[in-house]
Amino acid sequence: MRKEYTNDDVYDFLAKECRHSPELWEKFGEGILSHVKDVDFWDSLSEHLDCLRVCNECRKPMIVGYVVNGCDTYCSDECMHKRLSGQEYKELYDDGNGDTYWTVWYEDSITYKR
Ligand SMILES: [Zn+2]
Repeated sequence: MRKEYTNDDVYDFLAKECRHSPELWEKFGEGILSHVKDVDFWDSLSEHLDCLRVCNECRKPMIVGYVVNGCDTYCSDECMHKRLSGQEYKELYDDGNGDTYWTVWYEDSITYKR
């Protein structure tokens, strides 16, 4: 079974998957990890990689997390609850029928889209 990643693994994940993506390797190679503290870099990279998002609250890159109302993304319970109470989340989640849920993105494409 494939490893289950958390957001603590985001840099390891990118470094590892980078080697399997010719497009990503060509563009960044091992240099991708030199951007760990660069918020703008992750914002921009997330627009090119389906497997990556950025947290609306703490601005960190993430590969699993919450989608709220189909567009806002949060990396953790802590970040999500800064915007929504547990009750509000529950109502928006609507037993899985809403556009608000927890998901994984790391299984999506690692291909760098220009
Ligand atoms: Zn966050």
